[in-house]
Amino acid sequence: MNIEIRNPAAPAEIVATYEPVPRTALDYLVARARAAQIEWACVPQPERGQIIGAFLDALEKDAADIANSITMEMGKPLSEALGEVAKAIGEGRATVARANAPLGEVLPSQVAGTIVQTIRRPRGVVLGINPWNFPFSTPIRKAIPALIYGNAILLKPSTLSPGALVRMQQAADATLPEGLLQVVIGGGALGQDLCEHPGIAAVSFTGSVGVGKKVAAAAVSHLAEISLELGGKNPVILNDCSDLDRALDQITAAAFAVCGQRCTAISRVIVHEDIADAVTKGLAERASAIVPVDGRTDGARMGPLASSTQLEEVDGFVTRALAEGAKAAAGGSKLDSPGGGWFYAPTVLCDVTRDMEVARDEVFGPVLSVIRYADIDEALSIANDVVFGLTSCLYSEQAPIVERFLAESESGMLHVNAGSFPENHVPFVGIKDSALGVGGSNGASTIQFYTTEHAIYRRPRA
Ligand code: NAD
Repeated sequence: MNIEIRNPAAPAEIVATYEPVPRTALDYLVARARAAQIEWACVPQPERGQIIGAFLDALEKDAADIANSITMEMGKPLSEALGEVAKAIGEGRATVARANAPLGEVLPSQVAGTIVQTIRRPRGVVLGINPWNFPFSTPIRKAIPALIYGNAILLKPSTLSPGALVRMQQAADATLPEGLLQVVIGGGALGQDLCEHPGIAAVSFTGSVGVGKKVAAAAVSHLAEISLELGGKNPVILNDCSDLDRALDQITAAAFAVCGQRCTAISRVIVHEDIADAVTKGLAERASAIVPVDGRTDGARMGPLASSTQLEEVDGFVTRALAEGAKAAAGGSKLDSPGGGWFYAPTVLCDVTRDMEVARDEVFGPVLSVIRYADIDEALSIANDVVFGLTSCLYSEQAPIVERFLAESESGMLHVNAGSFPENHVPFVGIKDSALGVGGSNGASTIQFYTTEHAIYRRPRA
């Protein structure tokens, strides 16, 4: 059955239809990728970098069309979709810039006359499984390091937003060797079959914790390498700040970008009790000033949620939080719109306590919870009291507090006096239930995931 995509701002409108790949085609696709990969591995790595550069150029030329398809399919404002495409291409270029970096090292030997070296080889055929919220940048973070290190890649989009990857396939067909990058459209069952396929050497997955566990089990069943990038429940600790307005602007952006549907979205503001009232008021004013509209509207700051399921889930979290004793300082309900879109009011909840569901589970929507604390011990204890460990932020200008945060905050990415936006060339990393494995996305550590390591011992004669 074909996959129909509805406009989240006006769901009666079908914006795209895709034919899923039949499960019977997987053997062929994996074999085709392997054949392409064997030849690609013989291309010198700097030359691979040039070819991938041309692929990125083609994507850049097509940026407006890619962004438009993202907005139509999952609803984020066009400015955010254009930003996603531009940032992803910047990340891709940062990875290509590593094409001439060393691939191993020379070590001293215990045996006279022996040269000991480590080298790296491509893994083979890599599988990238992607979520719907960043349908272009997530696959780019997988594809570019996979290709630069000599692998072929199969990319599976979410069935909510395949359009960006369909356009990526077109750019690949025009610039890359045949079969090297293949987009495989389909749902979870197809993803599961791919993970279990013995021809897949490594699986890089981005999505929810529950699906991540299934993906890991399927990949491990044939001992494929695995990288999981999962959810978050990202805190900001707001202790002291000489420019509170600026801090609140940054927190608002980090909480409500992409309608809160970012794995790195700030969802808990853990604030010192002395400034909690001012912070709650400031955040509520900022949230109330954001009016969700169709993402194609000029100047749109927030679009609808991506699906009716998302809308019901977000509303359920807020309804239960209010029943548990939280109060809505802003928002707190679905919004009516002429097209019946999946709109939710940007929401700030106060009187939230650390044990409430909304303070512990990933909401993945425009909902910010304010939790008070008395001292930094309590703040860190609240921040760390969740299963996730993706990103965390601190606002403080006191060195001892900054040092404690950097040493004790349980997250992969730590930001001091800044929102939770990652940079292009830096590893995108999580701990606890937010991630498993090293090097799935961006930064120097990608070499560890996308290559195998080999130790060489060499003597001039026996
Ligand atoms: P999801 O886990 O429902 O789906 C992700 C992908 O997995 C989709 O392509 C889906 O078709 C596929 N899938 C589903 N079942 C499968 C199975 N059994 N085997 C193989 N593949 C299967 O996630 P989502 O709803 O698309 O995205 C939202 C989630 O992704 C949130 O939890 C969010 O935090 C997380 N996310 C994490 C990051 C990160 O880098 N840490 C980035 C973006 C999103």
